[in-house]
Amino acid sequence: MTPDAPAGPPANPANPWNIRAVFVDQAVAGSAMARRVRQRLPEAAFQVVEDSGPSAPGHPSGCGPSGGPGPGGESGRVLRLSAHRGRFLRPCPGAKSYRCCGYRIVHIGEGCPMDCTYCILKAYLRTDDLRVFANTPDMFAELGDMFGRDRSRRFRVGTGEFADSLALESVTGHTAELLEFLRDLDNVVVELKTKTADLSWMAASPRPDRVLAAWSVNAPDIVAGQERGAPPLSARLAAAREAARAGFGVCLHFDPIVPHPGWEKGYAATVDMIASFLRPRDIVYISLGSLRFLPELPAGLAAMGRLPDYYLNEFVEDLDGKRRLVRPLRVRQLRHVAGLLQKCGLAGKLYLCMESDEVWRAVLGRAPHGPDGLARRLMELAFEKRRDGP
Ligand code: SF4
Repeated sequence: MTPDAPAGPPANPANPWNIRAVFVDQAVAGSAMARRVRQRLPEAAFQVVEDSGPSAPGHPSGCGPSGGPGPGGESGRVLRLSAHRGRFLRPCPGAKSYRCCGYRIVHIGEGCPMDCTYCILKAYLRTDDLRVFANTPDMFAELGDMFGRDRSRRFRVGTGEFADSLALESVTGHTAELLEFLRDLDNVVVELKTKTADLSWMAASPRPDRVLAAWSVNAPDIVAGQERGAPPLSARLAAAREAARAGFGVCLHFDPIVPHPGWEKGYAATVDMIASFLRPRDIVYISLGSLRFLPELPAGLAAMGRLPDYYLNEFVEDLDGKRRLVRPLRVRQLRHVAGLLQKCGLAGKLYLCMESDEVWRAVLGRAPHGPDGLARRLMELAFEKRRDGP
């Protein structure tokens, strides 16, 4: 068994992230979510406000080489329950020259209580506050219209873009509500992408073939040193095993793969650990993503005295304005991790996140068929009938 990071979160499971104040937009003060949050956080100060402030602009990407401000600290965190006025369903932003996975985002909120040094939300969101959209009837009206219009059209959606899908679930019950809404929609698979070990969403009794339980994983040194507040790998994989035993398909995301001293051994240890918790048939797909970040992120970390050494590697400007690792090291890392997973019988389940055909061929010896090839393949895997059970 691989050495693991000390446990991150829930000292107090009732208020896992030490939320001390909740600001509620007037427009959602009477919402079911506001009632739940009030019940679940009896010690937090509640205040109804006219408008709890604007949403973040642009398109980060939550639980990947992306999203989440600092820790709550001793004074605790602020949670804002807002009414989202824009569209809830969005395409995942993908640069044209890269193979895009065709995932669609259900926008449930912004901000993350965990604190990963590679997280893009640090650069996007200029606040540590956590925001959740409580106007779920508006969200369900939009989703119902889109998903119900043509039941022969399939959707693979997820909630982990501007946030971790499940970090606030124990407080908001947001995902449980979403799963109840989706229960009768045969044409939608939802991926819940997280670093937590939260399985409370299972209580909503979702159809196992319509939910993908997804975990971000990394090398032990990265988990221990760069993912502050996140549960250890063993806790994530134990949760993944439980989800698989309940019949849910499991997805794993090596994102970002970080160049650090001993990375070859580190990622090998993580793959060993995955193999000790999960069978190949439990796993629906695995993404591999290289380190990429907004140019302003390292300066922000340096100002806090928290700039990790891995930012001293050589990077190039990406097509979407981010910085990414130079190609030779990127390919070496991706190839190494892919090779380890291939040896575990997972060759057919691997894909690369935001890479060109050249990198695909260099790493996996193949590239997706046509512009939509990757999206189509992942859709097939997501909807595939699974032989489940222990
Ligand atoms: S878990 Fe880490 S990478 Fe994911 S959204 Fe939170 S802070 Fe960002």
